[in-house]
Amino acid sequence: MSELIQIRDLSKVYERGRQKVEVLHRIDLDVDQGDFLALMGPSGSGKTTLLNLIGGLDVPSGGSITVAGQRIDQLSPAALARWRAAKVGFVFQFYNLMPMLSAQKNVELPLLLTKLSAAQRRERAAIALQLVGLADRASHKPGELSGGQQQRVSIARAIVSDPTLLVCDEPTGDLDRQSAEEVLELVRALNRDHGKTVLMVTHDPKAADYANHTLHLDKGTLVEGPQVHDGTPAAAPVGAGDATAAAL
Ligand code: ADP
Ligand code: MG
Repeated sequence: MSELIQIRDLSKVYERGRQKVEVLHRIDLDVDQGDFLALMGPSGSGKTTLLNLIGGLDVPSGGSITVAGQRIDQLSPAALARWRAAKVGFVFQFYNLMPMLSAQKNVELPLLLTKLSAAQRRERAAIALQLVGLADRASHKPGELSGGQQQRVSIARAIVSDPTLLVCDEPTGDLDRQSAEEVLELVRALNRDHGKTVLMVTHDPKAADYANHTLHLDKGTLVEGPQVHDGTPAAAPVGAGDATAAAL
């Protein structure tokens, strides 16, 4: 497999007034094209911060992030926004759907940034909704859908632009077990059958089992090791280059 993401010496510092908080400390990570990686760790350990940096929603304080040969940490804000719209699909814990819009219109939203015609946008969104098994709910608003269905709409929205990378931040955190399994099966199919590279933060070891391997963040440092069921790390710091070798 070829390498999609290369992260070197990545750090993120937030400033709160005069106080500086280092949230990520010198992270090295390689992710192969087509991989499905789970990221676990205690609350506040920096998981969302790391996902947002890789997805281009935020910019690092130090180090580099290279995706498909491109240094995204060096892009201008406008170029980063364009890159993100083309290459990354985001799935959030609480779906982040627009409550006044139908499922169909929610899925069409990312396509407003493209040159597609209204008819093409409708067609693409219909295909994405079909792929997540919700063609028959296209006219429903989020409030008329179950949590699991809303998350599947948000997955349709995430993939409608055919991104390379799918970034999921606790996608099953608000779902019952059965809905969670449906969402995870869908994410797995997008990885296996549609070639999406997936990065998924989760607190749930059963959700992490769907991934090819699991990394743990602890106080801003990446560690790898056998999965432990309380989300705490069980092994030594990850060195540059060997993260991809972890096969659990
Ligand atoms: P996790 O997703 O692992 O729970 P986060 O990445 O959300 O952790 O947050 C890691 C740490 O960074 C937390 O201590 C949090 O309070 C802090 N943090 C996150 N975002 C900001 C921000 N925009 N400004 C200041 N501190 C932040
Ligand atoms: Mg988080």
